[in-house]
Amino acid sequence: MERYKNQKIKVYNTLSGEKENFEPITEGNVGMYVCGPTVYSNVHLGNVRTFMSFDVIYRYLLHLNYKVRYVRNITDAGHLTDDGNIENDRFVKQSRLEKLEPMEIVQKYTVDFHKVLDTFNFLPPTIEPTATGHILEQIELTQKLINLGFAYESKGSVYFDVQAYNAKGLHYGELSNRNIDDMIANTRELDGQSEKRNPQDFALWKNASPAHIMRWNSPWGAGFPGWHLECTAMSTKYLGETFDIHGGGMDLKFPHHECEVAQSKAGYGCSPVKYWMHTNMLTMNGLRMSKSTGNYILPMELVTGNNDFFEKPFHPNIVRFCFLQAHYRSVLDISNDAMLASEKGFNRISDGFKSLANLETNTISSIDVMAWQKSCYDAMNDDFNTPILIAQLFEGVKFINLIKDKKETITEADLTLLKETFTWFLIDVLGLNFNENTVNNDSSKLNGVVNMLIEMRKEARDNKNWALSDEIRDRLLALGIQLKDGKDGTSFSIN
Ligand code: AMP
Ligand code: ZN
Repeated sequence: MERYKNQKIKVYNTLSGEKENFEPITEGNVGMYVCGPTVYSNVHLGNVRTFMSFDVIYRYLLHLNYKVRYVRNITDAGHLTDDGNIENDRFVKQSRLEKLEPMEIVQKYTVDFHKVLDTFNFLPPTIEPTATGHILEQIELTQKLINLGFAYESKGSVYFDVQAYNAKGLHYGELSNRNIDDMIANTRELDGQSEKRNPQDFALWKNASPAHIMRWNSPWGAGFPGWHLECTAMSTKYLGETFDIHGGGMDLKFPHHECEVAQSKAGYGCSPVKYWMHTNMLTMNGLRMSKSTGNYILPMELVTGNNDFFEKPFHPNIVRFCFLQAHYRSVLDISNDAMLASEKGFNRISDGFKSLANLETNTISSIDVMAWQKSCYDAMNDDFNTPILIAQLFEGVKFINLIKDKKETITEADLTLLKETFTWFLIDVLGLNFNENTVNNDSSKLNGVVNMLIEMRKEARDNKNWALSDEIRDRLLALGIQLKDGKDGTSFSIN
């Protein structure tokens, strides 16, 4: 069922500064690229907010039955500090600090990143490429840019020539609404020692001395690729020269994403992305969360309670619920009070959702479930407005409580619709996990799946579809899971 045919999504596109109708390049398919973490240290909660916003967008597109290729990279090389000094390469610095190989640093923090995503019930991307796994593609693109006159070599490094780009009628600054003349006016003159022709030029390839462990051979000597280049090389490889969605935090708009636009337009002669999406920042107690200022908390510290900012631990569901109560383009501030309020809200929705199982039905419905379901879709279709969706789910809980109190009535068919809508939006789209006490517990996940199959088998039996009901029983048995029908329903044992 292609649900996307009935839902008209509007997406705020940073490039136009407007909400636009979402029409993928190829009908029914979506290509989405999100800039991933730089794995030289643990991700902080701010990073999690950005990735969670795209997790929900991905989930909604999947719910609508789009076929989504979701690429989120791992930056494991080439991320310099702002001063561009090679000695300040974050991986090299961290490996000295921890007395580990740079690749051990990469491995350690990649594993940590995945653990965090698992804890918060993220869906994995369909491709998770690494910068170090795509050195050849980056060398090729650098060479192409040199050949086309958009880049130059200087002392073993290669730079993108922003003035050459602009001279060809292209506009460096189109995404972040900057003007090259203002940029020039606001930058210090280069001293005579610089390798660059102009301060705006950015590195595609950096020369590296033998002391620098992470380096690769190239036509310009040993070195490593620039950070901006990796995203262009990998997004093009897996999604094509132009793809549907490119996302990241709004701090990446300039220079990172601006450079990606320039590299693609110069190298492939086309704009790389149809819809640029940027998430707003997470602040804590009013200040932007960032490692450099020390105003940050690690995701696991919030979950375990091992921190100085919050009075108690908070379950991953509460964190997720709290984040999604803000729209992805708004600043979100977390504080102890905000987390306590989210906990209350989550519990109210959770109680309502659980009591759906015991609602009594009637011959007529006094509430319009179909209209309510539409309002849930309308919220998500309006630039993925999760706070409005959550407000609609609270409306749903109100209905549930009124039906429980016999002040409203619902038919069997409408109850099924109500249950289905709650399950879709709470579990599939918002990604909340209702298998309490069991987050990340594989055996309980298996139990959940078997119980779901038991329910489906019951439905098949109610519809006298004996063939399907027998097939479910037999295939589970083949896997070593035996169903036992009793007067209180069906139970199972796993051999
Ligand atoms: P990094 O590992 O620094 O490249 O960051 C990974 C992602 O997290 C990027 O998309 C950043 O824009 C995003 N990010 C960094 N700090 C915050 C914050 N305080 N709130 C939300 N997103 C952030
Ligand atoms: Zn990127």
